[in-house]
Amino acid sequence: MRIELPPLREVIARHGLSASKALGQNFLLDEQLLDRIAAIPGDLTDKPVLEVGPGPGGLTRALLRAGARVTAIEMDRRCLPALAELGEAFPGKLRVIEGDALKIDTAELFHEPYAIVANLPYNVGTALFTGWLTGEAWPPRWASLTLMFQEEVARRITAQPSTSAYGRLAVLAQWRSHAKLSMKVHRSAFTPPPKVMSAIVHVVPSQMPEGVSARVLEKVTEAAFGQRRKMLRQSLKSLPRALEALERLGIDPQRRAETLTVEEFVEIARALS
Ligand code: SAM
Repeated sequence: MRIELPPLREVIARHGLSASKALGQNFLLDEQLLDRIAAIPGDLTDKPVLEVGPGPGGLTRALLRAGARVTAIEMDRRCLPALAELGEAFPGKLRVIEGDALKIDTAELFHEPYAIVANLPYNVGTALFTGWLTGEAWPPRWASLTLMFQEEVARRITAQPSTSAYGRLAVLAQWRSHAKLSMKVHRSAFTPPPKVMSAIVHVVPSQMPEGVSARVLEKVTEAAFGQRRKMLRQSLKSLPRALEALERLGIDPQRRAETLTVEEFVEIARALS
């Protein structure tokens, strides 16, 4: 049975939730689209989900309808009464935390693997995304990430070698995870519409390659893509033993960073770890 909820436009009007530019608020109001987004992580029946930035609760209600137990972190206090109302419609299924997600250790909020779903402002989303993907411990505490980005950023995360979008974000997102661009979202789907198109990236952790330090891999990609037009023999010169490693691995030092596969970056990092 579908729980009857007031239209999102009415919720926004009744609680005076005019979109704040400073908080990067672009709301999604199309319930069918929201249900499709909530379906991306797979069956959520009775599963714990972290939503960052619920705003008036459009995606939150879709996640609750999908059966999830949602913990939502929102820093705009104005949204809390609307979220409290939603919680009443789904008793015991919604926990709202008021605060800045960048300052909260989200893993501390759960005792079991949890899916992360968010439609966040660009800078906050990228900062959280890199935070969730770095660190030596793997697999992470989260089971999947389903995140809205500007389409251009989504393309960088899922890019393949020898393309202009390929860089540090792609290696970070792909060396021990599967990252997929799941859905493009037209700018007109948002209220107010942002300037650019958006897309949703879905990331699932995979096996971490053995003998590789995440920190060393980050250093290698940072050096290599910091001078992406230069040959590796120049860009990796500052990393001790890197040029010997290239020779040992049979990687031509005249190549440029963007031609290396994720596996080749992993091999270099393993040699230096
Ligand atoms: N999820 C809603 C939707 O899809 O319609 C709102 C999306 S809106 C793009 C981003 C939301 O993230 C806003 O509600 C904003 O207040 C919230 N937000 C922005 N920065 C945040 C942060 N650092 N921590 C938690 N929430 C944040």
